[in-house]
Amino acid sequence: MGPRYVREVGWDGKLVNESYPWIERRIVHWPKIGPWQDALRKGLLQAGVSPFNGYTFDHLYGTKVGGTIFDESGYRSTAADLLQASNPRKLRVLLHATVQKILFNTQGQKPKAIGVQFKDELGNQHEVYLNQKTAASEIIVTSGAIGSPQLLILSGIGPKEDLERLGIKPILQNQHVGKQMSDNPMNSIFVPTKKPVKQSLIETVGITKAGSFIEASSGFGQSSDSIHCHHGIMSAEIGQLSTIPPKQRSLELARSFAQTKRAIPVEAFRGGFILEKVEGPLSKGQLTILNTDIETTPNVTFNYFSHPQDLRRCVFGIRTIEQILHTKSFADLSNIHNYSNDEVLRMSVQANVNFIPKHTNDTKNVEQFCRDTVITIWHYHGGCHVGKVVDRDYRVFGVDGLRVIDGSTLLKSPGTNPQATVMMMGRYMGVKILRERLGRAAGM
Ligand SMILES: Cc1cc2nc3c(=O)[nH]c(=O)nc-3n(C[C@H](O)[C@H](O)[C@H](O)COP(=O)(O)OP(=O)(O)OC[C@H]3O[C@@H](n4cnc5c(N)ncnc54)[C@H](O)[C@@H]3O)c2cc1C
Repeated sequence: MGPRYVREVGWDGKLVNESYPWIERRIVHWPKIGPWQDALRKGLLQAGVSPFNGYTFDHLYGTKVGGTIFDESGYRSTAADLLQASNPRKLRVLLHATVQKILFNTQGQKPKAIGVQFKDELGNQHEVYLNQKTAASEIIVTSGAIGSPQLLILSGIGPKEDLERLGIKPILQNQHVGKQMSDNPMNSIFVPTKKPVKQSLIETVGITKAGSFIEASSGFGQSSDSIHCHHGIMSAEIGQLSTIPPKQRSLELARSFAQTKRAIPVEAFRGGFILEKVEGPLSKGQLTILNTDIETTPNVTFNYFSHPQDLRRCVFGIRTIEQILHTKSFADLSNIHNYSNDEVLRMSVQANVNFIPKHTNDTKNVEQFCRDTVITIWHYHGGCHVGKVVDRDYRVFGVDGLRVIDGSTLLKSPGTNPQATVMMMGRYMGVKILRERLGRAAGM
């Protein structure tokens, strides 16, 4: 992450610089880049996204190869692997346990979080309480950008109208819970190749000064069968249908999607795609809780491209991708010289799996292309923003004994991809809390 981001968030730079390597040593690897990622690297440089900053975790303008959580054998590490650094005698992990509600003591001046109500993997109900003898005991919510605002609201911390509508006993009204959520729009151009290319996930990235990131992935549709059932990160099956507001998700749209899916251009998936992601979107949305059951996923609307700057950044990104496509590195690998720019854009519109009605005949209008083909890169964040719901130490305003430490607190998605920073936050805050509680005895 760049020093500017760290300054804006108000983190302690020294501790940040200690926390990233702590994560990196345990679960991050350097990828061996294959032909698609190498062509992107060269193409980005030829298109002016320079300099080449080499293999680096740093967020620098230009082109770089970042780290990966996949090792050479394809094993993917996760945050769960970090538990290896814990003391198992002091930790109890419950799998498939769902917290339904945070419990508060409302007798004092301020409500105090004292426990949680949860359901275990067998469906049995439990209530567990903090050790009241230790004043510093607290509950730390890490349910993510959708789960954390949902849990706060269901526990009585949220906008007045939501609490009233759902009949939830208010603990504290806060109009900002579940608000100002954003998701970085992702738009892709599908690139047919001369022959099937090796599968690759995002490894090479271009960081432009104009506020869009260029990345790529390849090798998802090696056969016509696989094309029709799975599109890698473009798959409807992994949540790519959520790009329009919930109320517009109708049965007709679902039918027309099913129809489109049968007619997806096979050649689009024979190669790979180059995507652009808008940095720090200014378009904002919100989360709406549908009922008091924690297992009902809330409605979330991100209002993609409602802010004109996001659209400008997308257009810039798509234009940059068009330049990359015509660089020698990509032309050698792809079949691109057989297609005009318009044809490539049209094919990309047809290959897209969102629910948005398409304008396949209007590919000259790149703004329209951006609106039509937007999907998520799953970097949604916000809902419990620092300064609105939590303070800079991630303590929930207005109550004691409760913090939220996860992607819901982020005003802007960090880096090109947020996961490393979200994990870093875990280590960073863990060390800070230990220092607060134990001082020098924390030994760190
Ligand atoms: C499909 C997909 C692909 C992605 N790819 C990348 C990538 O390549 N690179 C990258 O940097 N980022 C990627 N991301 C984004 C990254 O995973 C997230 O930004 C990051 O995981 C956010 O961390 P978090 O701790 O805020 O939330 P999460 O990782 O979502 O963790 C929240 C956890 O809380 C649990 N939870 C929620 N509610 C409750 C409850 N009531 N009780 C108990 N548990 C609960 C959830 O099950 C979940 O395990 C991807 C995300 C997705 C969905």
